[in-house]
Amino acid sequence: MIDLHSHTNESDGSCSPEELIAEAVRTGVGRLGITDHDTFAGYDQALQAAARSGVELICGIELSTRLHDHSVHLLGYFSETAGLEAFRGWVLDLQASRRERNVRLAGRLRELGFDITVEEAEARGRGMTGRPHFAQIMLEKGYVSNLRQAFDEYLDESAKGYVYRREPSFAEGVQQIREAGGIASLAHPIRVAGDVAGMMPELCAAGLSAIEAYHSDHGAEETEYYEGLAKQYGMLVTGGSDFHGAMKPEVRLGTGYNGNLHVPEDVLVGMREYWGVERETLNAESRRSGEKKRALS
Ligand code: AMP
Ligand code: ZN
Ligand code: FE
Ligand code: FE
Repeated sequence: MIDLHSHTNESDGSCSPEELIAEAVRTGVGRLGITDHDTFAGYDQALQAAARSGVELICGIELSTRLHDHSVHLLGYFSETAGLEAFRGWVLDLQASRRERNVRLAGRLRELGFDITVEEAEARGRGMTGRPHFAQIMLEKGYVSNLRQAFDEYLDESAKGYVYRREPSFAEGVQQIREAGGIASLAHPIRVAGDVAGMMPELCAAGLSAIEAYHSDHGAEETEYYEGLAKQYGMLVTGGSDFHGAMKPEVRLGTGYNGNLHVPEDVLVGMREYWGVERETLNAESRRSGEKKRALS
């Protein structure tokens, strides 16, 4: 079995990278993509365990980007981890801006009279600390009676405790992934606000290379629909469960909700072809720019 969308506790999953590999072995997922939010830390730590257990690991990431004032998740898949230095640097900058936002958010909540520190939030969320962790603390300290209230009154974009966080635009995310030789795939399109079909020309122009047609949130009709869109625009399809472990226990690795997910093996065939062609193109470009530099000097 193949599953190209999963999370470890380096973002918002509950399994450590080693536990996720054990889960892949247990459920019969032989090819696994780890796509933590805005970090490669889970993938990096899973490499050894994967090699020991014979699970083929695919290097991935899930970026939060902005498109028309909405948050859109974008998956990036890479054939090899060599050559990702610049992209990894860009991802570290994203983490730094999240950390800096969290410091300001804690300050804002204190201004509003709550006893909350950024350290408390980070003890829960580590590298992926965000508003949900602040909401949990507010609930535990009795400042709100449920998480919903924490967001509605304080943390939502329209609420009084909100502080701005820089998120890359969708186009910037796509461009960064592609410059690193990766495949940029639109994650769980069913969750995208607005009409995806209508947005396709724009997404295509931004350089999107794939659509996640297979996802636990998609029924058979939706999968077929998004596959059709991908085909129409000459894009690849990708797929995975979006496994989060105990954070979302109904979703199983490899098979989704009650076995509703089945990612065909040949999804990876298309991805491998793409990586091969892309590598040639990037090499040719760097050869050309090298020649240009030599010609100018
Ligand atoms: P952050 O990345 O820290 O800005 O937090 C974003 C996360 O907060 C999202 O992934 C959601 O899980 C959660 N979130 C954002 N807005 C709301 C809302 N209005 N109600 C509930 N959860 C929300
Ligand atoms: Zn997640
Ligand atoms: Fe997502
Ligand atoms: Fe995800």
